[in-house]
Amino acid sequence: MSTETPKRIAILGFSLETNRFAPICGEREFSDRGVFYGEEITEDARRPAPVINGGICGFFKVMDAHGPWEPVPIAFAGAHPNGPAEKSFFNGLLQSMREGLEKAGDLDGVYICEHGAGLAEGNDDPDGEVFALVRGIVGPDVPVIATLDLHANISERMVSEPDVLISYITNPHIDAFERGEEAAHCIIEMFGGVKPKMASIRIPLVAPSVTLLTAEGHPYGDLIRVGQTKLGDDIMNVSITAGFAFSDTDRNGMTITVTAREDQAKADALARELAIAGWADRERYQAHMTDLAECTRMALEVGQDASKPNLLFCDPADNPGGGGRGNTTYILKSFAEAGVENCVFAVFNDPALVKRANDAGVGATFTATFNSEETNQFSEPFEAEVTVEKLSDGEFAGTFGMVKGRTVQLGRSCLLRLGSIQIIVISIRQQCLSNDYLQHFGLDAAEARVTVVKSRGHFRAGFQHIFPPERIIEADVPGLTSCNLLTFPWKHMPRPVYPMDPETTWEPPAA
Ligand SMILES: [Zn+2]
Repeated sequence: MSTETPKRIAILGFSLETNRFAPICGEREFSDRGVFYGEEITEDARRPAPVINGGICGFFKVMDAHGPWEPVPIAFAGAHPNGPAEKSFFNGLLQSMREGLEKAGDLDGVYICEHGAGLAEGNDDPDGEVFALVRGIVGPDVPVIATLDLHANISERMVSEPDVLISYITNPHIDAFERGEEAAHCIIEMFGGVKPKMASIRIPLVAPSVTLLTAEGHPYGDLIRVGQTKLGDDIMNVSITAGFAFSDTDRNGMTITVTAREDQAKADALARELAIAGWADRERYQAHMTDLAECTRMALEVGQDASKPNLLFCDPADNPGGGGRGNTTYILKSFAEAGVENCVFAVFNDPALVKRANDAGVGATFTATFNSEETNQFSEPFEAEVTVEKLSDGEFAGTFGMVKGRTVQLGRSCLLRLGSIQIIVISIRQQCLSNDYLQHFGLDAAEARVTVVKSRGHFRAGFQHIFPPERIIEADVPGLTSCNLLTFPWKHMPRPVYPMDPETTWEPPAA
């Protein structure tokens, strides 16, 4: 029997994908997604259908199976993508992390579950701040491993402070759990004496978000797959983060981060090789959007002709998964006015309208004002007569895509009928991630002729059993997360940057 004392590993993180052009993200928005202190982290991570980030759940799974260990859960706060974190909230979180780590006493390791594209009010690098705080307290010799979203914007501190950075390799992100497992395996290796060496290179490529899928045939996925073929005895991890354009930071740009088990030169050489390959392939990052008039024509046609395959339209410009408010009415208004038939909108964010529907009750018909309380420039009000078909508390367990095995919380919700269109209206802003969101209301995208989701691409994993890529149409309408990057008032984005500035050049670092 081993006489080794169980390893004590602190667990913490801050997870916010920040759109600088979206409203401030306060305590309320964080509590909508989940703020966990101390033992709440452990309890949720070990639940059958957890709410907390899958990375933490994966980390717990491997550590629990590995043998006795002592989790030292500190604090974790995540919100749906939004504007910068409110200063008081972020500083309060940092304070909880500082106090928790100081009280923890001797630690053997730290796992940080971070998103990596964060901003806080008055702080353009909150992720680096968390990493530096951790390193400052535990000192240089304690292993610190961090997982990141693949939309992370990598700062210098994010590379210099932890020992290993591990980003997702799938988009839609269906590997959060596996990356948490990988983080646990890495920390176990470090307990065994491995001293990782990291190299990181950024290239001036900020691609429209719809071009960053990782399925076969997409340039980003192709590059990630090349990176994964290099893993082995020498190379511990390859993370290629495309970044999140709408954070508008001085660290935007695709970043290749390689961790070698011992040889810095091997990490440097592979990062350089992959950066050169990524830059050489830059012209493939092209969006192919469909304008609203054409979308409406297609929807009308499919709604009337049952012999044609049904279609899914997505609205990448109002993606709550990128800070969009999930409530612009361009597509809804156009489809309603054209008389599109047998159509489901999933999901529309409007707490005030849900309340109105609750007050009216199932079966009631009333004149609804969509966006009666929203102030965002893109979220115009829209009036229409609707009937309340269903009311719900909005909670269910997911079975498809990114919500498989997880608990989804939409807040109080309702199903409204507007002519031949059914609209799911929710109170906790988020994107529709799967057919579960429809099925919760007794609907099914396989039955509808036309399905509309406000999402950039994560929905794909939750609808792939119904819609092959050629039956998914990306609608080009205005919004906070539009793929027309030249329309944004960038202030911090390094320029020139490809493809916004076609003349952009880049030279690899000396070998
Ligand atoms: Zn992401």
